[in-house]
Amino acid sequence: MISALQHYAYCPRQFALIHIEQVWAENFFTAHGNLLHERVDSYESEQRGSVRYERSVAVISHQLQLTGKLDLLEIVGRPTRYFPVEYKRGKPKRDDWDKIQLCAQALCLEEMREITIDEGALWYWQTRKREPVLFDEPLRDATFAAIDGAHRLLASGKTPMPTDEKRRCRACSLMDLCEPDTFRRDHSSAYITALFTDFSQ
Ligand code: SF4
Repeated sequence: MISALQHYAYCPRQFALIHIEQVWAENFFTAHGNLLHERVDSYESEQRGSVRYERSVAVISHQLQLTGKLDLLEIVGRPTRYFPVEYKRGKPKRDDWDKIQLCAQALCLEEMREITIDEGALWYWQTRKREPVLFDEPLRDATFAAIDGAHRLLASGKTPMPTDEKRRCRACSLMDLCEPDTFRRDHSSAYITALFTDFSQ
């Protein structure tokens, strides 16, 4: 799922806990995000002037093995221009994980329609503003890297260690299930490696 890429970009351990170990926990942020998306999904498609607004649009990429749903797709004039929009509960992030999700949606549309999409937007509930997102080479590269990393992690079936970005853990709904500080403190694997190294000498 495209939405899983956001988990991977945020923290590969979070991705593994949800998509390999199948654990999940709501917190205020996730519950609020779900509510926002429920509201967005309930709106109908409509035409306003030369712009068609399609909501909850299903997309797929066979090449990238991705599937997902766009919150909003604006289809403008002739020649037809496609403009994906994703709704988010918070505010614009310093990091790219929201943009990666949007870019992956654009990549699916590009494959489905055999077109190129240059731009989309993220709309943030907290700021009530649209942030334009250019699908430039660096963002496309970051998105391809996240897709590849997520597929590899899924195939490995292994949950990696906690992220070094401790500030991310504070907003993570899986904090209690993940126990990042316990795992960061746990040096047993290094201890066992050292133990066997000593025996083999
Ligand atoms: S608590 Fe931290 S390390 Fe654990 S899944 Fe969440 S972000 Fe990743």
